[in-house]
Amino acid sequence: MKKSTKIVATLGPATETAEVMEALINAGMNVARFNTKHGTPEWHLERIHRVKDVAKKMGKSIGVLLDLQGPEIRINTKDGVSFELKAGEKAKFVSTPPGEKEMNIPANVIEALQIGDTVSTDDGACEYKVVAKDESGVTVESPIDVTVKHRKTMNTPGIVIDMPSLIENDLVQLDNMTDDDIDFVGLSFVRDTKDIAILRAEMAKRGLHADVVAKIENQAALDNLDEIIEASDAVMVARGDLAVEVPFERLAYYQKMIIEKCRTVGKPVITATQMLKSMTTEPRPTRAEVSDVANAIYDGTDAVMLSEETTIGKYPVECVETQAKIAAYNEPLTEHSLWDWADSGVTSAITYAAFSLLDFSKEDIDMVVCFSASGLTARQLSRFRPDVKIKAVTYNKSAYNKLALVYGVEPILVDKEVFTYSSENDIIDNLKKTKIVKAGQKVLITVGLSEKLAGRKTDSLILVDIK
Ligand code: PGA
Ligand code: MN
Repeated sequence: MKKSTKIVATLGPATETAEVMEALINAGMNVARFNTKHGTPEWHLERIHRVKDVAKKMGKSIGVLLDLQGPEIRINTKDGVSFELKAGEKAKFVSTPPGEKEMNIPANVIEALQIGDTVSTDDGACEYKVVAKDESGVTVESPIDVTVKHRKTMNTPGIVIDMPSLIENDLVQLDNMTDDDIDFVGLSFVRDTKDIAILRAEMAKRGLHADVVAKIENQAALDNLDEIIEASDAVMVARGDLAVEVPFERLAYYQKMIIEKCRTVGKPVITATQMLKSMTTEPRPTRAEVSDVANAIYDGTDAVMLSEETTIGKYPVECVETQAKIAAYNEPLTEHSLWDWADSGVTSAITYAAFSLLDFSKEDIDMVVCFSASGLTARQLSRFRPDVKIKAVTYNKSAYNKLALVYGVEPILVDKEVFTYSSENDIIDNLKKTKIVKAGQKVLITVGLSEKLAGRKTDSLILVDIK
C-alpha cells in the first residue's frame, strides 16, 4: 500500500461479512469504526471480533474505534408520525408526551432555551427561532416548509446544556468491551476536559486502556480546544455536527486549525463526515468530494473517515479505494513544514533530527525504523510527515493497533527479544532476522540505548547501510 494517510471506515450492515472486511483492508482501511448510535452491544462485539480475526489472518494491524453516542438530543413526535410545517408556522418543544405539532425533548434542554435562540433539527435541515416560552414548553417558528420527522437529531448552536457527557447506552456499550476488543473510544460532543476525565474514569472502572478520541463538534469544544487536545489521545474533526453547531462557513477554517494544533503536539487527527457522501448511492465521487479528500491531506490530516458510505452504502469497498487513490497521488505533492512543534524532551529532539536527516540531507534513506514500545516516538516522528515510510517496531499489541491511525506509520509487531541487545550490532541483526530490513537498504533507526531495551526512552539515531 503506497498511501500514508490512514482510512477510518465505519462498519455496518453493508460491511459486516468477513469477505467484505477483507476487501476493505486490502483497499486500505486501517481503522474500523463502530457507531454505537445504531446497533446493540452484541451486534458490535460480534463484528469487532470478526474484523480483528480477519486482520490477524492477513497479518495487518487494524485499530477498532468504538464511537459513543454522547449527549445527543433527539426529537419524538406524536405516535412517531412525521408532520408538516409551513413557512411561518409555529410548533412547540415539550418535555411531556407530544401532541399535534409538538416535539418531545429532554426537560433540561427546554430549560436552557430562551426567546430569540436558534435551534435546528435533522442535521440542520431546518432552523427554528424560539418565539415564546412558558411552563409547558417553548414555541418555535419555522422559516421554511419542512417535514418534521420522529427521532431526528436536534442541535442547539452555542447553547451549553447541562447534560451528562455519557448516556446509559454509552456505559452499556463499554460494559461489554475488553482491551482485546477496542483500541479507541470516541467521545461525542466533548465540551471540556471534565468530559474526558469522566470517560477515562468509566473506562478505568472497566479495566479499559483504549485511547480517547475527542470529537470536536460544537462551540464549547472549540473554546476549550487546546486543553481538550492535551487531555485526549487523538482528535476527530466531526464535521457533521460541527457544521450545524457553528456557522458552516467557518468549517474549513476550523478543520485547518484543529489539524495544525494536533500535528504540533503529535496527536493523530481524523477528518470526518460526508467525504464521499454521494458514493453512498453512486459509483463515482463528485468533483467537490475528490477535492475535499485531497484538501484534508494537504491540511495534514492523519486520517480520513467514511460513515454512511461504508455502513449502508452500495459501494463501500470502492469508497476506500477512492480515498486511497486520492491519498497516494496527493501525498508526495504536499508541503508539510512544521516549525513550532511542541518540545517534550529528548524524544522530540531525536525525532526532529531524524526528520532533518530524512528530508534535508543528501542521504538517500530507504526507510526509518522506529523502535517504539508505547508508540510515542513513532507519533512524534510522523508529525513532521517525512517522505519515507516509518516502520514502527513494537512488542506491545495495544501500541501496534493504536499506530494504525498515525500518518505514514507501518506498525510491526515483534517478540520482545527483538528489542533486547548487548551491542548495537545486535539491533541490526535482529532487524535482519525478522526481515524488517534487508541487505542493500540504507536505514535510519531511532532507538533507546540507555536502558538496553531498544524501544524505551529513544535517545539515539543509527544510520546504517545494511550488508
Ligand atoms: P457522528 O460524528 O457521525 O457520530 O455524528 C461525526 C460527526 O458529527 O461528524
Ligand atoms: Mn457527531
